[in-house]
Amino acid sequence: ATFGNLSDRLAETFKQLRTKGKLSASDVDGTVREIRRALLDADVSLDVVKEFTARVRERALGDEVNRALNPAQQVVQIVNEELVGILGGQQRRLQFAKNPPTVIMLAGLQGAGKTTLAGKLAKWLVKEGHTPILVAADLQRPNAVTQLQVVGAQAGVPVFAPEPGTGVGDPVKVARDAVAHAERALHDVVIIDTAGRLGVDAEMMKQAANIRKATNPDEVLFVIDAMIGQDAVTTAKAFQEGVDFTGVVLSKLDGDARGGAALSVASVTGRPIIFASTGEGLDDFEPFHPDRMASRILDLGDILSLIEQAQQAFDEEEALKVAEKLATETFTLDDFLKQMQQLRGAGSIKKMLGMLPGAGGLKQQLDNFDEREIVRTEAIIQSMTPAERKNPKLLNGSRRLRIARGSGMTVTDVNQLVQRFEQAAKMMKTVARGGMPQIPGMGPI
Ligand code: GDP
Repeated sequence: ATFGNLSDRLAETFKQLRTKGKLSASDVDGTVREIRRALLDADVSLDVVKEFTARVRERALGDEVNRALNPAQQVVQIVNEELVGILGGQQRRLQFAKNPPTVIMLAGLQGAGKTTLAGKLAKWLVKEGHTPILVAADLQRPNAVTQLQVVGAQAGVPVFAPEPGTGVGDPVKVARDAVAHAERALHDVVIIDTAGRLGVDAEMMKQAANIRKATNPDEVLFVIDAMIGQDAVTTAKAFQEGVDFTGVVLSKLDGDARGGAALSVASVTGRPIIFASTGEGLDDFEPFHPDRMASRILDLGDILSLIEQAQQAFDEEEALKVAEKLATETFTLDDFLKQMQQLRGAGSIKKMLGMLPGAGGLKQQLDNFDEREIVRTEAIIQSMTPAERKNPKLLNGSRRLRIARGSGMTVTDVNQLVQRFEQAAKMMKTVARGGMPQIPGMGPI
């Protein structure tokens, strides 16, 4: 779907970052370069990309990341915030007139999805308790009026159109008459569908500008097809100069477009995206939320909360202590046990791993993982003498046999535990170098 590729690329970039502890300037540069490439490949306009990556870079090299418990997480958050920013920041709701009717004019190229949007908007407004009317001011395209009537019937909303057979009317007059009619008939919202062309042309712009002048709309919504790629920015600028608009509607977000150009529109024109269209049906439509769209684009699963949980399970101070112990070779089985208990305290390991994006591949491992393992580990370690816990090298055959008997386990169990401890100790070294902790007993994730 739209943004699919961009999402994958960004996820990949962050995945690499996730294995880092402290970030060096070159880590940040590498990440920013990847983000820049991913955005450009997704058709986001160069100016927007430049500004975006410059901001991310500046913040990622700054103190907020330096001081963060988990720098990678902080960078993901920065990218998310900046993405919300280029998408317009706060959600911008449709504005209604103080004195009805509210007039909403739709503008955009032919095929952008204006007529479909008119129906979607009408249906949505009815649900919100309004009494809209649709206006057919597209008198250029032969079947535009009929199409609007079909859509109106589907939405259960009346359509104001020139009488059939009266020939080509004057769209400006139709629009003006429609507003007057809405006042009399107590329709509180007037939605004006206007003509589009395949490309931007002066005459169409003039007509749209005249309709705007004649009806003084509360909102002029520029409908842009997410599939049109880099042309989106040029088209948006042309409409901004020719008619100007108060908000943007992204249509066809369900398609296979790269979508980045549509993302640039809000940033380039300074006009907010108000709605998103995601299909041909009248219900495939929703108010646009910059934050939700950003999360969708980043598509990191619950990566943020995963990082957070791993962080809690393995808090910084403890990690530092362990690192110290490793440095002095004093990481013991007691520490190992404490870590396991900490992990258990952090909640279900399965649940935590389930939040990893792409956890599907982990299913086997998840199913094999048995939390009773921790209980068995406790039993074995508690059957050891303090000296053995401090120095597992003492554990010869007879000691292992004694421990197995004492804990009700087999020697194989004891051997496996010692092996896992050694793996964990190795893993702790990675952590000490600033890597991500893995789960003892899970093997590498
Ligand atoms: P207009 O010329 O701007 O009025 O565009 P239309 O409303 O006639 O839409 C052009 C085509 O795009 C039609 O076939 C619509 O069914 C289709 N369309 C409109 N919006 C969407 C959308 O959000 N997703 C998809 N997949 N198709 C859409």
